[in-house]
Amino acid sequence: MAQDNSMLDGTIASVDASIRSLNLEDDMRAVLIEPWREIQVALPVLMDDGNVRVFRGYRSQHNAARGPYKGGIRYHPNADLNHVRALGMLMTWKTALADVPFGGAKGGVSVDPRELSTHELNRLTRRYTMSMHHVLGVNRDIPAPDLGTSAQTMAWIMDAYGSIHGHTPGIVTGKPIELGGSLGRAEAPGRGAAIVGTRAIVDNGSTPEQSTVVVQGYGAVGSSAAKTISEDGAKVIAVSDVDGAIINSRGLDIDALDRIVIEGGVVSDFADADQLNNDELLELKCDVLIPAAIEDVITTQNASKVQADIIVEGANRPVTSGADEILVDSNKQVVPDILANAGGVIASYFEWAQNIQVFNWELERVNRELDQLINRAYDVTRARAEQTGSTMREAAFDVAVSRVAETIKIRSYVG
Ligand code: GLU
Repeated sequence: MAQDNSMLDGTIASVDASIRSLNLEDDMRAVLIEPWREIQVALPVLMDDGNVRVFRGYRSQHNAARGPYKGGIRYHPNADLNHVRALGMLMTWKTALADVPFGGAKGGVSVDPRELSTHELNRLTRRYTMSMHHVLGVNRDIPAPDLGTSAQTMAWIMDAYGSIHGHTPGIVTGKPIELGGSLGRAEAPGRGAAIVGTRAIVDNGSTPEQSTVVVQGYGAVGSSAAKTISEDGAKVIAVSDVDGAIINSRGLDIDALDRIVIEGGVVSDFADADQLNNDELLELKCDVLIPAAIEDVITTQNASKVQADIIVEGANRPVTSGADEILVDSNKQVVPDILANAGGVIASYFEWAQNIQVFNWELERVNRELDQLINRAYDVTRARAEQTGSTMREAAFDVAVSRVAETIKIRSYVG
């Protein structure tokens, strides 16, 4: 019977399956799974009303065998140590599969950022940076945006870090262009998800022009995935955000929708579509479903109702492990998160490289090199899946885990 494990248990189960399929030694398991360093701090912040509130901040540095720790910081009420531990571990496999020279980490603050003013968020972010700066560094650990954080958050981190260590643009990625951010970085996670979505459509014997797409979560990842996949020729028929969902079976005009969202609107403000609710959206008849919001949206409760043939995990772990089994049993193709949303960290690598070289790339170069790396990651995953008869998730983990294990062995990581 399929079970909904926690995100951490589900991630560890994927690693364990790869350890078995790669015949790795038992003692390698602990080295692969144990997070290297974890920090938990109290963050007292002066609120606008004059009171002090204490938030909890976290950073889990999972593994740095292949390069400095790398991964986002999320501001979300659910963020806690277990949460960032699972997400940090996912980053290790994501960077390894994408073959970028980083390890994996994730940070978080347990807060609903929508309840804080810009000034409060600024103070919170500086507190977080001051509590963590000794474990961060251009060659040590490089944060990026994640759920609830943005380019602005990265600018505050860079500024606070710079006040101690001197001007250091490469300390964060996903920053504003004016501070050394990279062209194309903001669109990269969605662009990557659209590219692998289109590859999966073609591998299933269809074409983008014949395909309909539903995107759950019209934020940074979802909106750029919708834009890129519609430019590839697919028809995006429905999208959602936290406030609601819309459908137009003739296809949504993505440029018109983006104009509304950029001006601060929500997707349900879009007139040329019908409204539906978020649960109905996940169960719509379509060819490709891109859950691009948050973890645990496709669960054992609703997995059997998913009608899409291809599910592209734009978010981190949107399909629970129990739901994954149900989807696989019903012959659905799941393109796993560590492949589907790797575009973000790939472009982060380009940003970091540009910062180190103090040399900016043109957008065309960023996109060309991103397309190359994401396609290569797709190819190696697909080849492994075909060779071993495994799912794309199992294959992606096999490739990632074997790369990390190899580096651990060559370094003689164990003291
Ligand atoms: N937060 C993003 C992710 O989960 C980006 C991480 C990064 O660029 O370091 O992949």
